[in-house]
Amino acid sequence: MKIFVSGGAGYIGSLCVEYLINEGHEVATIDNLTEGHRKAVDPRALFVEGDLADREKLIKTVSDFKPEAVMHFAANALVGESMTNPSKYYRNNVASGLNFLDAAVAAGARTFIFSSTCATYGIPEKVPIDERTPQRPINPYGHSKLMFEQILAWYEKIHGISHVILRYFNAAGASEKFGEDHRIETHIIPNVLRVPLGKKNQVEIFGDKHATPDGSCIRDYIHILDLAQAHALALTRTESACYNVGTGEGVSVMQLLDMARKITGHSIPAVVKDARPGDPPRLIAAANRIAKELGWKPKHPKIQQILESAWAWHQAHPDGYGD
Ligand code: UDP
Repeated sequence: MKIFVSGGAGYIGSLCVEYLINEGHEVATIDNLTEGHRKAVDPRALFVEGDLADREKLIKTVSDFKPEAVMHFAANALVGESMTNPSKYYRNNVASGLNFLDAAVAAGARTFIFSSTCATYGIPEKVPIDERTPQRPINPYGHSKLMFEQILAWYEKIHGISHVILRYFNAAGASEKFGEDHRIETHIIPNVLRVPLGKKNQVEIFGDKHATPDGSCIRDYIHILDLAQAHALALTRTESACYNVGTGEGVSVMQLLDMARKITGHSIPAVVKDARPGDPPRLIAAANRIAKELGWKPKHPKIQQILESAWAWHQAHPDGYGD
């Protein structure tokens, strides 16, 4: 299939591009390289450097490629930053995303596969979270993604483009070639691994008084290759759908740290800091729907496997992509 991807130089986009090409698809991607890295783009993909805010160029670029499906990864995705700079989130995730959706419609794409997030649920009344859980985001990041989900529903009614919404839990881990390298790293796993890499002295734990057994936040970490598999399967879907993508296993920050200590053989000192604004205490997926409807099954569901793959990549790329 011909697939046009936004954000193919970013962490999740780069891994998905690699996966799709390995599956035999033809892939083009656009990325403005503010978050992404040129070296993270699989050399077998057609790469265009550009910004989704540049509407005319975007519409022409996507139309020229004539994709059957598009995948939309390009976005800002930091809860904390969205609490201090909401404008960035509404401009990039909603307004620029809309340009990409219009480009997909203009190009005649059949389906739009959208990177959404468990942050659209806010603080859920019950965990694990299934897709019927009310969506009440508690930060502008989650809200911007929810707005885009709602736009997709109207575009289907009016323009006939179907969509598959994938609500990611915590993407983590690496493939052999591609991994997680943010210029400003806020995510827990790369920050933990920076200590044994000798780039940081200690890890900060954001809060130990959350409503969880050990007081640190619980997340559902999903291996990036399993997330990529979910995207490939989403292409087989003919009707619109939304799916949670997670393992159903919750891991606390303290538990993650213990596992990282075992894997790296390093003591990884940690200090407790204040809780980060906008962080829900516990996010765990009920992902039965995607298993049932698309036959998705994670191949690397354990936090140990996820951390081992991340550790292997960071050891091989101690300076990330080097830019
Ligand atoms: N976290 C932490 N220390 C860090 C980074 C993150 O304790 O240096 C916590 C954060 O509060 C959250 C969890 O780790 O509960 C996962 O955070 P991350 O930023 O990786 O992903 P998010 O859940 O925000 O998408």
